[in-house]
Amino acid sequence: ILYLTISPPSKSTCHSLFLSFSDNATAARHLLALTRRPHVAGTAANAAAAAYVLAVLSSSSLPAYSVSYDVFLNYPIRRSLILSPFPPPLPGPILAFDLVQEIYPGDPYADVAAEVLPTFHAYASSGATAGPAAYANYGRLEDFAALRVAGVNVTGAVVLARYGEIFRGDILKNAKDAGAAAAVVFTDAKDYGGGGRGRFPEGPGMPASGVQVGTTYRAVGDPTTPGWASTSGCERWSAAEMAASGLGPGIPSLPVSARDGEAILRTIGGQVAADDWQGGEGAPLYRLGPGPGFLNLTFIGNETLATIQNVFAVIEGEEEPDRYVLLGNHRDAWTFGAVDPSSGTAALLEVAQRFGKLQKKGWRPRRTIIICNWDAEEYGLIGSTEWVEENREMLASRAVAYLNVDCAVSGPGFQAFATPQLDELLKQASKKVQDPDNSSQTLYESWIASNYSSLIGRLGGRGSDYAAFLQHVGVPSVDMIFGGGYPVYHSMYDDFVWMEKFGDPMFHRHVAVASIWGLVALRLADEEFLPFDYISYASELQRSTKIVEDDALGMPVTFAPLYKSIEELKKAATKIDNQIKALERNFLSLNWRKDPLKVRELNDRLMMAERAFTDRDGLFGREWYKHLIYGPSMHDGYGSKSFPGIDDATEKAKSLNTSDSWSFVQHEVWRVARAVTQAALVLNGKF
Ligand code: GLU
Ligand code: ZN
Ligand code: ZN
Repeated sequence: ILYLTISPPSKSTCHSLFLSFSDNATAARHLLALTRRPHVAGTAANAAAAAYVLAVLSSSSLPAYSVSYDVFLNYPIRRSLILSPFPPPLPGPILAFDLVQEIYPGDPYADVAAEVLPTFHAYASSGATAGPAAYANYGRLEDFAALRVAGVNVTGAVVLARYGEIFRGDILKNAKDAGAAAAVVFTDAKDYGGGGRGRFPEGPGMPASGVQVGTTYRAVGDPTTPGWASTSGCERWSAAEMAASGLGPGIPSLPVSARDGEAILRTIGGQVAADDWQGGEGAPLYRLGPGPGFLNLTFIGNETLATIQNVFAVIEGEEEPDRYVLLGNHRDAWTFGAVDPSSGTAALLEVAQRFGKLQKKGWRPRRTIIICNWDAEEYGLIGSTEWVEENREMLASRAVAYLNVDCAVSGPGFQAFATPQLDELLKQASKKVQDPDNSSQTLYESWIASNYSSLIGRLGGRGSDYAAFLQHVGVPSVDMIFGGGYPVYHSMYDDFVWMEKFGDPMFHRHVAVASIWGLVALRLADEEFLPFDYISYASELQRSTKIVEDDALGMPVTFAPLYKSIEELKKAATKIDNQIKALERNFLSLNWRKDPLKVRELNDRLMMAERAFTDRDGLFGREWYKHLIYGPSMHDGYGSKSFPGIDDATEKAKSLNTSDSWSFVQHEVWRVARAVTQAALVLNGKF
């Protein structure tokens, strides 16, 4: 008898096959299915979306399951916003805004428009309050500082700010710190109106009645379980404890449309605002106030424990099942969520289906691949954070990398953000993927043509679900998107029609995201040696050190310890690189066997080096953030800071200018230097 064993195709053949399975019809079909109804976290519609994701994963022969948590969310119950052009007690005509986003001509979703939640700010304080209106530009610290310089006192005022420069939670914090009684945030037509291209449905711009909703929570994860998972029966903070911990901004607020924002601005008198505080063409002249325009604002929210579902599929690794490569995207949307996040969910499902097909060809990954579909991201990265908190030590000892896609596509132009050891892998993968907007070139070619200065951005902000992986546990991470900010973000108009007309008419960009996302995952899961480049990480750290050093120029702080530790890291990175090359050389030229334990030991050093950048004590004043190299900017949750602890301390020292405050900066420099030295030791693998 002759036994024939058919050996599976090689790993690199499988990776090419994966790319060849590209199919724009699949992503379009998933997107259509996912965006039929609004699917906010904790609602039946989002549980139905979870069931859809679970069914697609299972039908691709991937073992799938869901994990639920009960978490603290809020929904709007009552809102009102009333504007009077004169301060009380003067009588005058009043305008009660209806706060409704209008159904557009030809809207195929008109029948379910009533399911769109009334516009609100998640975790805004409930309350009724009134005050003269004052205008605060983008609501940044420097904007409130400019108001103070101009002698405009916003104490007791209802501050009107516009979206677009910083995380909305920080706008509200700044308003509250400035003494505002409440805040109203609008989408200025100048920034969101679509420019010359017009408003939806004619152009991509936000309709005049369109409102950007969103969370105002400045921490991450379920507020009732800070630092631990919301498992059933677990310890939970009470509402009173939460209030004490500063949940939400602490003042009532409402988001409003461009039309309502302009109506309010027409009633604000006082000094004329600076040119860069003004609106676009056709806008009224913006003034600072406060008053005479007077606002009565009411927001009542229903704060409640709601059940959310994370959905997972696992492809078990053949040789190293206990090493995890994770791909994640959130599913919950503020409205229909065609861009945010369903384009990402559609891409995730396409990746999963292609993995399913690969398995049928005999492919099994070397390491385990975990596909994650998160819930309640919009409220504050809740689903991913609870799961990471629940599995913290498992992930810390086993996770190789986390690859996030939130919105997959909002328009042309590929953007990637990563921890630096993954830069090179991203570039290599982008050379294998076709540019969706120009079939004669690769994604890499169009990418470098559009981003001259810094190709890959850093992941310090808390804009999406990578935050817990990277900033809490120290897992090397990536985030990717085609496009970026888009005008109908978090509004009712983020629907399938918008995507088909403006975001990705051919669904080729969805396909390109699925291709690069999946390919990066495949290489991390299949390559014998993890494709991590710590030499370039060290160079990146050197550049970042120069920046914080310049920031403290002439001050009594030395960065020498940090530079020294980076040199150690560079040496260790070079050493491990050479060790791997030597093993490969001996294998190729002398046919020496690669000892699996030795391979594993080298990979463990590569995997664990990033973990060493975390510190148990965390960032001073925001201890949940453990990563000392990358974290969110203190003043803009979306912004990334390198060496956030040094940055925070330097800012404080500059304003206090005491020797204690500068010693504290020095302490933070030492702390980072020690973490970098720890990483160097891990990479080096020898005492
Ligand atoms: N991505 C959501 C937003 O931008 C949540 C971000 C967060 O909570 O950090 O509103
Ligand atoms: Zn999102
Ligand atoms: Zn969002």
